[in-house]
Amino acid sequence: MIAVGIDIGGTFTKFIAVDQKGKVLKNIQLPTNIKLNKSAFINQLANQVKIWQKDFKGQKLALGVGIAGDTDDKKGILHFAPNIPWHNFEIAKLLKAKTGFACFVCNDANMAAWGIYAYEFKRKYKNLIIITLGTGVGSGFIIEGKLYQGSCGSAGEIGHLKVDFSKEALKCACGHKGCLEAYIGTNGLKTQMQFAAKNAPKSILAKLLKENKFSVKLLSEAASLGDKNALKIWHNFGSYLAQALSDAVLLLNPQVIVLAGGIAKGSKYFKPAMQEVFKKQVIKRPFKNLKILLAKQKDIGALGAALYALSKYEK
Ligand SMILES: [Zn+2]
Repeated sequence: MIAVGIDIGGTFTKFIAVDQKGKVLKNIQLPTNIKLNKSAFINQLANQVKIWQKDFKGQKLALGVGIAGDTDDKKGILHFAPNIPWHNFEIAKLLKAKTGFACFVCNDANMAAWGIYAYEFKRKYKNLIIITLGTGVGSGFIIEGKLYQGSCGSAGEIGHLKVDFSKEALKCACGHKGCLEAYIGTNGLKTQMQFAAKNAPKSILAKLLKENKFSVKLLSEAASLGDKNALKIWHNFGSYLAQALSDAVLLLNPQVIVLAGGIAKGSKYFKPAMQEVFKKQVIKRPFKNLKILLAKQKDIGALGAALYALSKYEK
């Protein structure tokens, strides 16, 4: 048997195939065409699955799908996603009907959490919080070696915890104001970088933004060259992130927090601010031996989805 993990993001959809031992056999990345309707998109996914099925000489497949949004893992439905237009999307049912294979659907951060726990850590740590840093900010919990998804699959929406209650709080893609994601998600960072560049037009950050296509990498580049605003934005990033995470740590008392997603690459600049917030905590013990690590494996969402399908199928 082969497990295929599919990680559907707002920009790309990644596919990974693994064997029963979890060895990666194939991977491919396709653009996510959000202009398609639900059934045309399902056809696209099913076609890729069928191509691989032929490559694997007609072997039986199990499918795992991770998608950025509020999903119900028991019913295999995507209910709502801020960056993807398909709501009340019965992915598991439709994909099974098209391919004939069992299909398991979860939120993408939950799939990444499972991938980190099962693949990167080889199940060494049993209590983890995984936070995915990108356009959206999500999290997944491993509690006592199990993926915790809540009563209807909605657990882990850390990006929508409030970190700013002031009148000037930034608006989030979900419609609320003051959410963590509005400050540390890609779009929030872009707003802050552009604002800083406007106020300091001769700064390194302003120059980099003017000469390059926007990416969060520019913020690290500016920080590495000593740009004060860039360092400040990273500092605030760490403070906001730690503010939400310290609440999560008080609730769940994990051994490890794992930072995943592209923006985690800037950790050198924001981790000290996180440590400052953690040090100020009154209840010290849950923070004392807490490890903050970076996810190493590329495409951990798709890999986690494949391994999750494997673990579910074996049950
Ligand atoms: Zn929000």
